[in-house]
Amino acid sequence: MMFLNPEENLFHVHTFRCRHADEVPDDVYVKKAIEMGVKSIWFTDHAPFPENPFGYRMMYDELDEYLDTLSEFKDIYKNQIDIHIGLEAEYFPSYDKDGYYQQLKADERLDLLLLGQHMAQTDEGGYTFSWDKEKLDRDEAGALGKAICQGIESGYFDIVAHPDRSFRRKKHWDDDMADISENIISTAGKHGLILEQNETSKRHKHHYWEEFWKMNEGRCQIVIGLDAHSPEELVKIRREKLCTRV
Ligand SMILES: [Zn+2]
Ligand SMILES: [Zn+2]
Repeated sequence: MMFLNPEENLFHVHTFRCRHADEVPDDVYVKKAIEMGVKSIWFTDHAPFPENPFGYRMMYDELDEYLDTLSEFKDIYKNQIDIHIGLEAEYFPSYDKDGYYQQLKADERLDLLLLGQHMAQTDEGGYTFSWDKEKLDRDEAGALGKAICQGIESGYFDIVAHPDRSFRRKKHWDDDMADISENIISTAGKHGLILEQNETSKRHKHHYWEEFWKMNEGRCQIVIGLDAHSPEELVKIRREKLCTRV
């Protein structure tokens, strides 16, 4: 699909619709990006699901407006910047069965689906977020890793967002984490998916794991993602990146 130079392409940007980003219209991001002189900006707001079972994201009936507004901007700003329209979505087998991902895939306004597995469906039909802390500490990474592999194999997704964030509850690298990582990397490799190194993960303890990226060396392609939830983060995160570059 691509190699995106992070200095010229702003990948993984959210919008006000997710309810935990700045309350600014989308064109503020676009104008900021143009001001920065980059080639492209990639919006990947959190995907809604039918009947709105989750908070902190757009409502299902806002999806059309999101896609239409950005499609319009794509056209308005076409001589200044490439705007790409995506969604960051979890893979949930029950929504696959109901045809939801197929419906998204068929929508011509959408350029890509980013697999961002923030929680997983459990074998009992619930979600990992209802587990208690002890179970989460023990089993969440495995459940997320398994769902990521299923998501990759489903064929709907182009890029895996922050795969190493699956280990956010771990304190030290261990053999289980290495096994989960190997599954993700080999499955992504087999299906030609790109893995995202997430700049926001780097700023949170235990969200970014160097060991994971060492295992991936010479294997899957990498894209640097910002996970920006405000226009300032387009610049701030990028500056830090440039400062820490060797
Ligand atoms: Zn978010
Ligand atoms: Zn994100």
